[in-house]
Amino acid sequence: MSVKIMVDTKWDIVECSECGIEFCISDAWEQHRRDDHKTFYCPNGHSQYFPHQSEKEKLQEELRKEHIARIEIEAKLNGALDTINKTKKRINAGVCPDCHRHFTNLERHRMTKHSSKGDGDETLLRLRKLEIKQSKIEPNFTPEIADFHADIVESLL
Ligand SMILES: [Zn+2]
Ligand SMILES: [Zn+2]
Repeated sequence: MSVKIMVDTKWDIVECSECGIEFCISDAWEQHRRDDHKTFYCPNGHSQYFPHQSEKEKLQEELRKEHIARIEIEAKLNGALDTINKTKKRINAGVCPDCHRHFTNLERHRMTKHSSKGDGDETLLRLRKLEIKQSKIEPNFTPEIADFHADIVESLL
């Protein structure tokens, strides 16, 4: 009677960093050691580990960076929204957002003091643009889009 053993495992040959002996470890086991950086031993007892960041760790770090970038951008945008709301409140109360003074006819004051020819009220135009950008923000934006938004916010504030 014969016993047939089928092994469907991929192996990798590694070399001991100390004595140079080559030995086989399975791909899966190697991946675990690359991920957890735990110590293992060559057949002669020399300890080894994989010091480099694994693909998984690189991805995790990228994600973490992306997450931080997103939080920062959201904070900036919330700050921008705050500015919009405060400015609107001032305007509704008749206070010029640029001179911080009260005017009985604010609209007229704005048109004479804060409008370049034909463009209308610059501050209000700026706020309107910012509001439009704010409304277009998607919940899952990539770092590239986040940078783009950061540029917009910085250029508008
Ligand atoms: Zn060794
Ligand atoms: Zn003014």
